[in-house]
Amino acid sequence: MRKKIFAANWKMNLTPLAARALIATLRADLDRDAGALARDREVIVAPPFIAIPAVAQALAGSTIELGAQNMHFEDSGAFTGEVSAPMLKACGVRHVILGHSERRRIFAESDEFINKKVKTALKHGLAPILCVGETLEERDAGSTLEVVLGQLNRGLDGLESAQIAKITLAYEPVWAIGTGRNATPEQAQSVHGAIRGALEERAGEVAHAMRILYGGSVTPDNVDSLIAKPDIDGALVGGASLKADAFARIVRARAD
Ligand code: PEP
Repeated sequence: MRKKIFAANWKMNLTPLAARALIATLRADLDRDAGALARDREVIVAPPFIAIPAVAQALAGSTIELGAQNMHFEDSGAFTGEVSAPMLKACGVRHVILGHSERRRIFAESDEFINKKVKTALKHGLAPILCVGETLEERDAGSTLEVVLGQLNRGLDGLESAQIAKITLAYEPVWAIGTGRNATPEQAQSVHGAIRGALEERAGEVAHAMRILYGGSVTPDNVDSLIAKPDIDGALVGGASLKADAFARIVRARAD
């Protein structure tokens, strides 16, 4: 059985104080049945860098794990404004979102750049959540799989099966992110199935144990039908993760 993952991407929201308050409310809800939830699901929160120490403190003794939204591929040096893998590790971060479409689109991150980050994360024992996804123009042009599998293959370039096994994928159609327009479970499953097929070609059997998350306007109302699909192993959640009650409901999603 693949444990589901529900990951909160808070993006550029919440001060350290507000982040601490959100964690307190989330824990008041999820801690009630943390043991049962932890049997078949993992929960990750990825705050802005500045809130990571406050969130690490607020998570003490919790099964919720800490993630980051980005990092640089170098360990240190003259990279103004950047944060490195050793810095994240020192703050208790265990997961890192890489290749988010906002990083690709707004900050012009290329597949090659993202691939270097994936390698650095693995070198430091951080678990990458590698995001891939097509724009609406690319979907309308019929090139969804070409785009998504291209991003996937270039993002994994030079990695061996054992390394690939440590990565979580997130399929996030760009047209569904923050738009309130999610992919249908069928649309998502068809891309997730293709991603798993490509992972199997590249890495063999480990592909069947890897988690592939869906991201793009996931809410308490649509999460159950999405994770009911065989290759959808959880969700990467933006907007709805900023509300403790909505995210807690998403974490309790039921596939049956
Ligand atoms: C995201 O940014 O990863 C995301 C899926 O955002 P939203 O849930 O708001 O669409």
